[in-house]
Amino acid sequence: MDQLGQRRGRPLIALTDEFTLKGLLPFFATFLRELNFDVQIHTGADQRVLKRGIEQANVAFCAPMQLYHGLIAELRESGPDYLFVPMLRSLERVGEESCAAVCPIVQASPDLLRWDLGTEGGPRVLSPVIDIGTDNLSSKELIESCRRLALELGVPLSWWSAYQAAVAAQQAFDAECLALGRRALDFCEQHDIVPVVVLGRAYTIHNRVLNSNVPAIVREQGAIAIPVDCYPIEASVPVYQDIFWGYGQRVLRAAHQLRRTPGQYSIFCSNYSCGPDSFNLHFFAYLMEGKPFAIIETDGHSGDAGTKTRVEAFLYCVHEDLRSAEPSAAATRDLVTIERQKARLPDIRAREERVLIPRMGEGAEVLAAALRGVGVAAEALPLPDRDTVRLGRRHTSGKECLPMSLTLGSLLQRLGTRCGRRALRLLHADGDRPLPLRRLQHLAQDHARAAGLPGPGARLVARRHRLLRRHPGRLLGAGLLRLHGRGPAARGAL
Ligand code: SF4
Repeated sequence: MDQLGQRRGRPLIALTDEFTLKGLLPFFATFLRELNFDVQIHTGADQRVLKRGIEQANVAFCAPMQLYHGLIAELRESGPDYLFVPMLRSLERVGEESCAAVCPIVQASPDLLRWDLGTEGGPRVLSPVIDIGTDNLSSKELIESCRRLALELGVPLSWWSAYQAAVAAQQAFDAECLALGRRALDFCEQHDIVPVVVLGRAYTIHNRVLNSNVPAIVREQGAIAIPVDCYPIEASVPVYQDIFWGYGQRVLRAAHQLRRTPGQYSIFCSNYSCGPDSFNLHFFAYLMEGKPFAIIETDGHSGDAGTKTRVEAFLYCVHEDLRSAEPSAAATRDLVTIERQKARLPDIRAREERVLIPRMGEGAEVLAAALRGVGVAAEALPLPDRDTVRLGRRHTSGKECLPMSLTLGSLLQRLGTRCGRRALRLLHADGDRPLPLRRLQHLAQDHARAAGLPGPGARLVARRHRLLRRHPGRLLGAGLLRLHGRGPAARGAL
C-alpha cells in the first residue's frame, strides 16, 4: 500500500478501503495508478469519523454506512483532485452461484453521499458503476467497467495494461491472504492454540470500531482470530444458490466447514440494522447448532467491556467443548438439504394440492383465478391485518423485513384455520432477487411441526417455478413451498 501511495506529481485520486472497496483495494488502487494518477489511500477510520458520519448523515443508517459517510466527508476536505466512490454492485463469486450482490446501501452509497455532501466546490467525484460477472476478475462486465472508467478519466489508450496490472495485484493479494490464514492455522495447531475464525463482511471485521475489537480481545484471551477472507475453504464445501448476498455466501460456506472441522471455532461480527444479516445470522446459527459459536453485533458505540465478557464466555464454552469426551457432535444441519425440484402445474393438479398465494398485492387474486382457470386449486391469502403481523413477528427475530413477517404470519394463520384433505403449497415470488425463502422454509417447517400440523415425518420442500412473464424478456419466478405429511391424519390436519 505504501508503494501504491507514493506521489509522482500526477493528479491525485483519493479513495478508501473502509467500505465498498474492502478486499478490492489492490485492484482499483493499482488500476488508477497505472492510468498515471497518484492515489491517496485512507484506511483505519475511527470513532471520531463515525461520530462525524452520524452527525452529517441525518438518517439512521447502519454503522458501516455512517462511518463511510464521515470518512468521505473528511477525504473531500483533504483536497484531492478526484474522489473515487464507485458504485460496486457485486463481489467476486466463490463458485457457480448466480448472484453475489452487495447490499442496496453499499450500491447506493455514492448517490447518497453526493446528495448529502453536495458536489460544489470539492474534488471531482468519480462514481462509476462496477459490475463483476461470473468470471470474476476476468469477466467481461468488469473489463467493460474498467474501460468506461478510463474513458471518464480521459486515458482511453492505456487502460488494458492498467487492467492487467490490477488483476495481477489483486490475485497476489488474495493468495497472500489465504497463505496468511494457513500459516495462522498451522501455528495454532503446533502451539495448541484455539483458532477463532471471525466471520462477517470484510469492511466490518477489519475495522476496529465496527468489529467491536473482537480480534484483539480474542488474542488477549489466548486464542488467535483469523478473518474469514484468510480462511481457506475446501472446494467440496457447497455453494448456496439461494443466497443472494456475496458476503453471506462467503460466511455461510465458512460456517459449513467450521462446523465440521474439529478444533476450529467462530465468532460472527455484525452490525445492528443490517438487512442481509437479519437472515444470515439465522442461517449461521442453524448451521452451527451443536458447536459453540458467538454473534457479536455493534453500532460502533459499545466499549470493550461487554465484548470482553462475551468473548470470555464463548471461549469458556470452547474449552469445555474441547475437554469433553466427544467435542461437538457430528454436524446434522446443511442448508443444501432443501429439496429443489421442478414444480410443474400438471403435477400439482394431479396430486390435488392446493396452492396458497401470499397477498403481496392485488396480483395475488388474479394469479389465484388464473390457476383455478387451468384446474389447479388455488387461493389468495387474505389481506394481512394486525393479527397477521403480530403472529409473524412472534415467530421471527424482529430484525427481518416486513414481507417476511407478513408471509409467515399469513401462512400460520391459514394453517390454523381451515382444514381440508389437500396438501398445501405456498407460492412465493422469487426470481433473481434477495429471497428469504430458505428462512421462511425453516420457520414454517419449525412452526408447522411445533403446532403438530403435518405430523411426524412431515417435510417442507422449497421449489422454484418460473410461472409468469411480467415484462417481455424478464421473468417473475416463484418459489413453492410444499407442506405435506405421510398419512391421512397429517393431510387432514392441513
Ligand atoms: S450489508 Fe448491512 S452493514 Fe453493510 S451496508 Fe448493508 S445494511 Fe449496512
